[in-house]
Amino acid sequence: MSRLLGSVPVYPVALAVAPVLATYVESDASVATITRPLLVATTLAVVLTVAGARVVQSRHLGGVAAVASLIALRASAIAQLAWLVLLVVAVAMVVRWLRRYLTVDFAAHRITPAGNLVGGVLLLIIAISAMVNGTVARAIDDLTRVTAVRAPPASDELPDIHILLFDSYPRADVLGRVFAHDNSEFFEGLEARGFDVSDRSRSNYANTANTLASVFNMAHLPDLDVDHQSTRRLIQESPALDIARRLGYVIHANQAPWDNVTLRSADVLCGSALPTDFELHLLSRTVLHDLLATIVPETDGTERFAAYTDTAFECLADSATSPELVLSINHFPVPHLPLVFDRHGDLVSEELAGEEVDDLSVPFSRIAPAYREQLAYLNRRTLEAVDDAIAAAGDETVVVVMSDHGPESSLREDYVDAPDVHERFTNLFAARTPGRTDLFGDAATTVNLFPGLFNAYLDTDLPEQRPSLFSPVEPFSGIERFDELPNPDVSAQSRRSQ
Ligand SMILES: [Zn+2]
Repeated sequence: MSRLLGSVPVYPVALAVAPVLATYVESDASVATITRPLLVATTLAVVLTVAGARVVQSRHLGGVAAVASLIALRASAIAQLAWLVLLVVAVAMVVRWLRRYLTVDFAAHRITPAGNLVGGVLLLIIAISAMVNGTVARAIDDLTRVTAVRAPPASDELPDIHILLFDSYPRADVLGRVFAHDNSEFFEGLEARGFDVSDRSRSNYANTANTLASVFNMAHLPDLDVDHQSTRRLIQESPALDIARRLGYVIHANQAPWDNVTLRSADVLCGSALPTDFELHLLSRTVLHDLLATIVPETDGTERFAAYTDTAFECLADSATSPELVLSINHFPVPHLPLVFDRHGDLVSEELAGEEVDDLSVPFSRIAPAYREQLAYLNRRTLEAVDDAIAAAGDETVVVVMSDHGPESSLREDYVDAPDVHERFTNLFAARTPGRTDLFGDAATTVNLFPGLFNAYLDTDLPEQRPSLFSPVEPFSGIERFDELPNPDVSAQSRRSQ
């Protein structure tokens, strides 16, 4: 082993995987997220080392050439890369000339053991920081998580359940007030398909991760007794999905553009070929990002969100045609920013395509009509997808069309200083519950999604949670630090009668 480390340059691999591991240690990404980047980085380093060794006719100098190339890849601009490539070529030519004519022994063989030592120390430092900050424990937890064993379907009567989660889709009255959009055609379309639409629905949380963590735990976040603050892990450790598994459901989910809210513990994870935001974050520090975006447009900007949306629809169609008993959760990244589609489903123009409110350079008076057009397209496509799903899965199929929270009210210039905290909780909620009329009532809240469905169809007796709104003390301030606000849509009277 020590002879191998003294004679074979392994350090390019160490230097290539180090940024992946270091980024992982700093983040709360799932361990599954780093598998592909590690494979790519390792392959790249090996290829560069072998190619470099052939060019300079020395495996020791091949390692040096590989490291030079890896550094060049991290250049932030193509021009810088070009200069570095020229430099590497020039150095290689000088080295070849020196070797041929001067036969000077410049001790190339000493570079390899020294490089391997440096690479080893680098990985050791990352490993120590991973142990100190809890990353190792978190990775072990990810790898050893045990979901409930799926039983054969408990009864022939159990319906397939399909949940369509449209990120940040606003409630009807807010759509009217903020975007001057009359969404009644969509709701009439849903009602014609057997949906009950909740006019006064609320999400209990103001962002995706918190809402999903509470939905899958069927509990409010401050009430949970857990030893960590990671909403990503709370989403994966889902008691709700374990109940469904024990009764025979196969859990289908799709890869969301935001990896921290992707349900990686699903039995079938659909669309996982798409690049994750963790991978794009790694690539963004290299020239490979722009290169990849040129070759594969689906890896960047609006095209990426369009690809995720298309894939979410495909995943829904796939799960609806499965012969097994299915519970599917399909997370659509629209109408959350960026704006993606125009009324025909083509991509919107460049200036409308900001991923954050701050990225948008056009006034709200231009965003609002584009938002309405996208919604009209999305509504049409959703009704078609629901029709197809019901046709494939059967008339007894349960379908929920909902959002995880309301709109980004700071889109409007007049709201920048005083965003409406309540608006962010006004979500979309419509449920098609065959055999059960008005199961969720007029003021549905997200935390009660699974208790409502399971108590109605799975013969469970799960407690209904209070309909409060949990406003973070600071944005993303952890699962215990919320101001609990009363739900203005649930009066004391109606709460007593529940
Ligand atoms: Zn969201």
